[in-house]
Formats: sequence, C-alpha cells, structure tokens
Amino acid sequence: MDIRVDLHTHTIMSSCGIHSALEMISAAKEKGLEAIAVTDHGPLLGGRLPSTFFDRFENPIPGIRLLKGVELNLEHEGTGVDIPPQFIPYCDILILGLHETVPSGKDRTYYTERLLAAIEANSFIDGITHPNSYSYPVDYPVLARAAKAAGVALELNNSKVRYKRVHDSETRALIRACIDSGCPVMVNSDSHTVNELGDLSHILALIQEEGLPEHQIVNRSLGSTLEWLDRRKKFKKETN
Ligand SMILES: [Zn+2]
Ligand SMILES: [Zn+2]
Repeated sequence: MDIRVDLHTHTIMSSCGIHSALEMISAAKEKGLEAIAVTDHGPLLGGRLPSTFFDRFENPIPGIRLLKGVELNLEHEGTGVDIPPQFIPYCDILILGLHETVPSGKDRTYYTERLLAAIEANSFIDGITHPNSYSYPVDYPVLARAAKAAGVALELNNSKVRYKRVHDSETRALIRACIDSGCPVMVNSDSHTVNELGDLSHILALIQEEGLPEHQIVNRSLGSTLEWLDRRKKFKKETN
C-alpha cells in the first residue's frame, strides 16, 4: 500500500518540533511524497501560529504541495477549539486531537461525547488525530459512525504504534471500527523529526492484517486527498 501524502506533521512552531517547515517540506519531497500538511499544535498546547505562514507562505519547493493546517485542541470545557478564526480560510486541513487541554481521568463516554460535540459544532474539522490513546479513551464504533456521517477522517497514526504508546489491540479495534462504519481514514506519520517522514510501516502492517479497504484511505495520493477535501468543502457549505 502506497501512501503519498502526509496530513499530520510538526515543525519548530510546535514546542515539541525541531525542524523548520522548509526542512520538513524538503525532506518530504526527498522521500517521494506528493504533498505534506504542516499541522502544528494550536496555541493551547504551546503552538505558535504566525500569520505569515498562513497568508504569505506558498509552496516553497517545486514538486511538492504544501497543505497548511493546524492540529487543534479542545478547550477545557465545551466545544471551542484553539484556532484564531481569521486563519481558517487559509487552512487546507484542520485536524483535532485530544491532548492535555481537556480534563484527564474521565471515561470513554466523556471523551467520545466531547469529540462528537466538537465535530457537530465546528464543521471546519476535517479529521480526528490518534483516537487510540490510553489517556483519552473513546468509543471507536460510535466515533467512526459520527465520522462517516460528517465525512470526517479518523487517523491511523504511525507514531503511536512505532513508539508503542498504545497496545496494538487498541489500534486494531480502531481499524475494525473504521472498516465497519466505512468512514474516511487518514494514515499519517505525526512526524516530529525528518527521519519519521515517509515511514508508515508500523501502522500499515496492522491495516493490512485487519483488511481495511484501500479506498477508505483519503491520503493515498495528492489527487485522492484533494478530492476528499473538496467533498469536505461542499459539506461545510451545506452545514453552515
Ligand atoms: Zn496529537
Ligand atoms: Zn501531532
């Protein structure tokens, strides 16, 4: 299975990143990717979102497409997320992940409901990152059915498997929920270093064993990615 677009990467604009956007884009091109989304953390998690990135920085390296995005955080309570509204029109993709900005120690129902409410309230959310987390457990079938209904992609995250942050059985359960619901899926590296780019081998091994149909993966190529983002745009128009 060949995945030529990475929709989840971090640069030095995230406090956990170590490379510039230019270094990440250049490394992605070298590794044969057709496009890379730079999705630094929102400000609630210490991310810096300079307006120059959003309104002035355009495809700096020929032969690879830059997609601009943010990995959003939920506010402590409610459905608010941490993107300055003026940046939304410049973003190609907005993804939301549960991080330490939400209360810890709650149950599956709590985190599932937080995500469902956020998807419902913010039609600009295109995808949910790493739903397979011990810190913020979610009900995969319920989330996957909601994702299917809203055209939102659930992420299968290589780093979680590569660095053994979650047991493979959790990731397999998430993959099976994606298969059963038929929801859009994005397979991403969540790269924080250039050497993590272009390697999805850990998550792809599980995807292949569980038998996720390839057509469910939206970021196989730049073409399939843009087609999905176009469908998302139409969905946003209808719901706004
Ligand atoms: Zn994350
Ligand atoms: Zn991330």
